[in-house]
Amino acid sequence: MSHLKPVLLSTAFALCATPLMAQQEQFITIGTGGQTGVYYVVGQSICRLVNRDTATTGLRCTAPATGGSIDNINQIKSGGMTMGVAQSDWQFHAYNGSSDYEGDAFEDLRAVFAVHPEPFTVVARADSGVETFTDLSGKRVNVGNPGSGSRGTFEVVLEAMGMSMSDFALSSELRPAEQSAALGDNQVDAISYTVGHPNGSIQEATSTVDARLVDVSGPEIDALVEANPFYSKVTIPGGMYAGNDEDTETFGVKATFVTSAAIPEETVYQVVKAVFDNFDRFKGLHPAFATLTPEEMIADGNSAPLHPGAERYYREQGWIE
Ligand code: GLU
Repeated sequence: MSHLKPVLLSTAFALCATPLMAQQEQFITIGTGGQTGVYYVVGQSICRLVNRDTATTGLRCTAPATGGSIDNINQIKSGGMTMGVAQSDWQFHAYNGSSDYEGDAFEDLRAVFAVHPEPFTVVARADSGVETFTDLSGKRVNVGNPGSGSRGTFEVVLEAMGMSMSDFALSSELRPAEQSAALGDNQVDAISYTVGHPNGSIQEATSTVDARLVDVSGPEIDALVEANPFYSKVTIPGGMYAGNDEDTETFGVKATFVTSAAIPEETVYQVVKAVFDNFDRFKGLHPAFATLTPEEMIADGNSAPLHPGAERYYREQGWIE
């Protein structure tokens, strides 16, 4: 008789538990960027923390590689993605219907938190002679894939500098994961990437060929930063990449984590809780996260309203009123 007991118990458990779990399980997707960037690590890190609690929250998270910021915002809008990472300038433009989003405002876009700084980064082969942004004239330049925030911001800089794509001998649209090899193989003279540091893409570029990070500064950049709250002047510290011991002066944005007002409060709350309840673990997952603080992540870089699920967590923590 006694040997039947565990069988009966486990059958009873299975009968209760299976339908309940199946009903509760909810899949969420986080839009990232290329696999050699930092967004991919942001998405993978958030999912790793969310998936530790699947048994209690029912949330199952995946973070596939995507085309980057603009692709992510557009997929959140269409319902193809639950959440995503996006540059602070494209969060601003999408919410306000400005720049590339003129006449196409995404009013339901919601901010969750800001993450790491992303300097506008140009890397040129040493043998190209490129030392400043305007030296790119007449050169072969990878301007980035359409759908990336990086490409969008490159176009903004080009216009601010009074230049256009036709100034280049070649403007290629390779993805971040392809562009470093193209630089090494001498298919292009320079690559561009608005991205957190250090990252695998620039590491690959500077270790396969003698290449320099290029200063992006001057009165045009000063004016751009002055006129737009989502830009700031930044320095990429020397010593991060092979052959680049000097600091690089440029400007940049922040990576931000965004979603839609259409996503339930409880879902966003659980994702935010997974990150901040395990904040030290999160910060340890990439060097670009090491100096993050909750205060800055809530205050900076967000131009769309906070999602109610994020607000709920921040209020519980006493981080907002
Ligand atoms: N900022 C880049 C973009 O939106 C992505 C950077 C990354 O993947 O880390 O295209």
